[in-house]
Amino acid sequence: MARVVVIGAGIAGLAAALAVSRQAPPGTAVTLVDGASKVGGKLRVSEVGGLPVDEGAETFLARRPEGVELVESVGLGRALVHPVTTEAGVVVDGVTHRLPTRTVLGVPGDRSALRRSGVLSAEGLAAVGADRAEPAPLNDPSVGQYVARRLGREVVDRLVDPLLGGVYAGRADGLSLRATMPALAAALDANGGRLVAAARSVVDAAPADAGPVFAALAGGLGTLPEAVARCSGADVRLRLPVRRIERTTGGFRLIGGPVPDPVTLAAEAVVVAAPAGKAAGLLEGLAPWAAHELAAMEYASIGIVTLAFPAAALAGVTGSGLLIPSTEGPVKAVTYSSNKWAPLAGSDVAIVRASVGRHREAKVLHRDDTELVRLVLGQLSAVAGIRATPVAHRVTRWGGALPQYAPGHLERVRRVRADVARVPGLAVCGAAFDGVGVPACIRSGYAAAERVLAHLRESRRGGWEEGA
Ligand SMILES: Cc1cc2nc3c(=O)[nH]c(=O)nc-3n(C[C@H](O)[C@H](O)[C@H](O)COP(=O)(O)OP(=O)(O)OC[C@H]3O[C@@H](n4cnc5c(N)ncnc54)[C@H](O)[C@@H]3O)c2cc1C
Repeated sequence: MARVVVIGAGIAGLAAALAVSRQAPPGTAVTLVDGASKVGGKLRVSEVGGLPVDEGAETFLARRPEGVELVESVGLGRALVHPVTTEAGVVVDGVTHRLPTRTVLGVPGDRSALRRSGVLSAEGLAAVGADRAEPAPLNDPSVGQYVARRLGREVVDRLVDPLLGGVYAGRADGLSLRATMPALAAALDANGGRLVAAARSVVDAAPADAGPVFAALAGGLGTLPEAVARCSGADVRLRLPVRRIERTTGGFRLIGGPVPDPVTLAAEAVVVAAPAGKAAGLLEGLAPWAAHELAAMEYASIGIVTLAFPAAALAGVTGSGLLIPSTEGPVKAVTYSSNKWAPLAGSDVAIVRASVGRHREAKVLHRDDTELVRLVLGQLSAVAGIRATPVAHRVTRWGGALPQYAPGHLERVRRVRADVARVPGLAVCGAAFDGVGVPACIRSGYAAAERVLAHLRESRRGGWEEGA
């Protein structure tokens, strides 16, 4: 009997396990191994003030098929919800402005909308107005440096940096244009020209009637992992960190668990779905170049401070939340969860989630919980006038939360995959590769499953395909 082992039960590994178990030849056993005590990785939910609130990812892009399809295929379709409001603000010099419409992650595609938002000063608007036609970028610049050179620094500091920070917890100056804004890079590659016009073409290409942009689950996105694990039928082995993978004549031997009492698993194929640093350690002996590249990938660590206020505290506070540029302090974003999600509304508590810390600024996370709560309360009081005392709070620290797609990321991923492809039956997936969002991670899990399935098919050439 063939055994496929997936290392890492985050959403990428879960998707890979599900796809393998659904499509593998009969008799293939799928084992899903994770060092943690629960499946889900960055998808986790727990109660605050009596309500289920996500500790990690809370929403996903509904305009891509993978997230919604996975939710429906594991029987959670009825729990799908869409935001009540997505109207967010950005704080500039302590004052909240509505985010301008028609931008690509803050790169303006409409100068009038930008002017109306009031986010930029007259000088900032003049710099955007000075945008000149240029040929496509030859290489892969950092978003921050590229946009600042063409449209001025202010638009980066006040819009692009906070919006990209919302996704990657990184700084625009350290993130790849081609990896984080692929549609904009493709528009520039196709036509060159003015940056604002390229952004406009990307905005205009999005279908107006494609339905809600985001989705979530009543009960929390953190309920998805258990459902996927259950449907996969995989043998789930928790609290079992894998330490080493060795090649054998039949495939692989995995060694995990405590050093004095190791657990060994044999596998015909292996999917490594752990974050880059851990994956690097596991791949060292199998695909050393891939390991080297993955070890060089940096991650941002962040904290999520969730507060439950008496419901009245949010009365008069409108919109889904705020983005807070780095110049305004270490709190990077605030979500008014009870305004944004219907299942959290109408309770006697109002939920607010704040995200703290950015790439290479993990020091703030060393403060104790009380200090972090105080920091967030200070910011909420200053920028949103919320001065109530929370009735409950929860602080979640995510070390190594989000990979940083540095300039050259796409090339790095190509090199990693090329090296891994030299080892038959080995595949990699997860947030380190093709996108940090949940649907992108699911997609990368499916792609890894495809590789493993092709290997199993190849090694049983004739038998399975003809007999199936
Ligand atoms: C606070 C936060 C908020 C986010 N919000 C959103 C959002 O709203 N929308 C969105 O689309 N995305 C969001 N993201 C991003 C998204 O959640 C992640 O990128 C995605 O869930 C990562 O999935 P993954 O499977 O690649 O990795 P992970 O979730 O990191 O899972 C990897 C798993 O591998 C396990 N593991 C590691 N090493 C080993 C080993 N040696 N042996 C066995 N197991 C191992 C870990 O225990 C973990 O369970 C957010 C991320 C964070 C941190």
